[in-house]
Amino acid sequence: MYDSLIDVIKRYDTIVIARHIGVDPDALCSQLALRDTIRLNFPSKKVIAIGMGSAKFCHIGKLDKVEDVENALLIVTDTPDKRRVDSVDFSKFSYVVKIDHHPFVEDFGGLEIIDDKASSACEILMRIFYSTRLEVNSSIVELLYMGIVSDSNRFLFESSTPSLFSLISYFLSKYPFSMSSCYQKLYLRPMNEVRLEGYIALNMKITENGVGYIPITNDIITQYGVDSASAGNMINNFNFIKEVLVWVTMTEDVKNNQIRVSIRSRGPAINKVAEMYHGGGHKFASGAKVKTMNEAMQIVLELDKVLEEYQSEVKSDGN
Ligand code: AMP
Repeated sequence: MYDSLIDVIKRYDTIVIARHIGVDPDALCSQLALRDTIRLNFPSKKVIAIGMGSAKFCHIGKLDKVEDVENALLIVTDTPDKRRVDSVDFSKFSYVVKIDHHPFVEDFGGLEIIDDKASSACEILMRIFYSTRLEVNSSIVELLYMGIVSDSNRFLFESSTPSLFSLISYFLSKYPFSMSSCYQKLYLRPMNEVRLEGYIALNMKITENGVGYIPITNDIITQYGVDSASAGNMINNFNFIKEVLVWVTMTEDVKNNQIRVSIRSRGPAINKVAEMYHGGGHKFASGAKVKTMNEAMQIVLELDKVLEEYQSEVKSDGN
């Protein structure tokens, strides 16, 4: 399958690489690493990586301007469904490739490279580059490493397998880069965000069955001087609270007139609840966009039911 990807790439002179809306490091790093690798191996091709940027991730790398293209190949990374692909009109492209690690949602109609056990889209790319022996360099490997580190939340999850560590070890020893500078690009943040994290820790409520939740209203966002996207990304910093197995941030985004609901779990799968509210994601990391805090609260109550069932299953298994 990886060789078919190279065959497809060889057939097109113009290649556009896109990913999901609401950019995050794995989405951004996967599209930039793929762009730079194709440029390195096929210098005569025109390759661009598109989508809305984010000031927060500007140190990771630069995207390209959206351009009108003809007879072009579209490669979408880190996105399971067409509706969430950023800045793309599918009808304008001759062929589509998907490279993704989310549970399957829909076929894009071309080559589908999906591994929903992979930690990240960047891990899949690393495997592709390893098996096809495409030429890479240290900055490409650094991008891939950042995507893996970010989506695995620094190797906290079951997706951190021996085979992933071997793969990383192979590339890191061949293409070294500065670890400390790489982690700064990912994790350096202003004091305001740390203070907001303190607010969340102080004000998180917990339901009867152990769902932690926190509404982050626009007033709070303004008071702490952060942006809505950064506030929404704080969810990953609350992973190991003993009393909380599922946790939710409900972040008001006045610009888009919506509430971004981010959900994480260390127990039951939560993506089905997100799907009930037109969202989706992974088994243990999902999200949805709703119109009101009341609706966001309904998601919390739904999750509480899921957690109640999960707790009673765990109890009966223990007996
Ligand atoms: P977030 O909490 O926004 O970081 O999202 C966690 C995961 O859920 C990511 O894999 C997203 O792709 C997915 N996700 C978030 N929001 C949505 C949505 N509205 N629809 C479908 N998937 C989503």
